[in-house]
Amino acid sequence: MKKLILLATLVGANFYHAQTQVIAHRGFWKTNPTTAENSIAALKNAQQLKVYGSEFDVRMTKDGVLVINHDEHINGVEIAAMDFKSLKKQKLSNGENLSTLEKYLKQGKKSEVKLILEIKPAKTPELETEMVEKTLAMVEKYKLQNQTEYISFSLHIAKELKKQNPKALVQYLAGDLSPQEIKNLGIDGVDYHYNVFLEKHQDWIEQAKNLGVITNVWTVNDSEIYKKLYDAGVQFVTTNTPDVFLNINKSRE
Ligand code: MG
Repeated sequence: MKKLILLATLVGANFYHAQTQVIAHRGFWKTNPTTAENSIAALKNAQQLKVYGSEFDVRMTKDGVLVINHDEHINGVEIAAMDFKSLKKQKLSNGENLSTLEKYLKQGKKSEVKLILEIKPAKTPELETEMVEKTLAMVEKYKLQNQTEYISFSLHIAKELKKQNPKALVQYLAGDLSPQEIKNLGIDGVDYHYNVFLEKHQDWIEQAKNLGVITNVWTVNDSEIYKKLYDAGVQFVTTNTPDVFLNINKSRE
């Protein structure tokens, strides 16, 4: 009986103190010396740091190859307007070539760190639908379905992900829909800028919790803001300083 009470206490305590999980924004690149955002090196750093997840941005070339880059352009060249053949030698700032999604997933597979896959909006809904199809197929090819979570600013992409794979975990980024609206659309979470939760709609964290909608916040690089969100019970924070926030978590264990 004593053991049972102890177990119940531990489970209860663990639930009560569930910590905010840290996601490295575009990988962990803010190292010393720094490396490039969205590089394989940044993903490896995030894996070594043992964060919950490592985020990265997916875009599509003109001939339908998925590549990893935040901006529409790389070194002044528009990704969506070029075939992969003419883009593959484009370098990131750390000297790596522009990575394909396939190459990125192969590195992702080497660790259990979650892959937080952002699909960037495209010029038409048709192109976005194609990006979703190709992304889900590639994730399936490497059997990474349980290790991958999806985010997007495009509501069409978020809906299409759920339509094509109802089991995919999807969070919406734009900040214009309430947790109730997100739940009604069948999307799993709200991943919003911290001002949305801390200023504009101070009731949304609580509303999301009550509805079972996942809460994630971007891009928090200030420890005081992190602590505020942690205290409010936000489940995930996406940051350029994952090492600093993991230390805050440690100090609060
Ligand atoms: Mg992103």
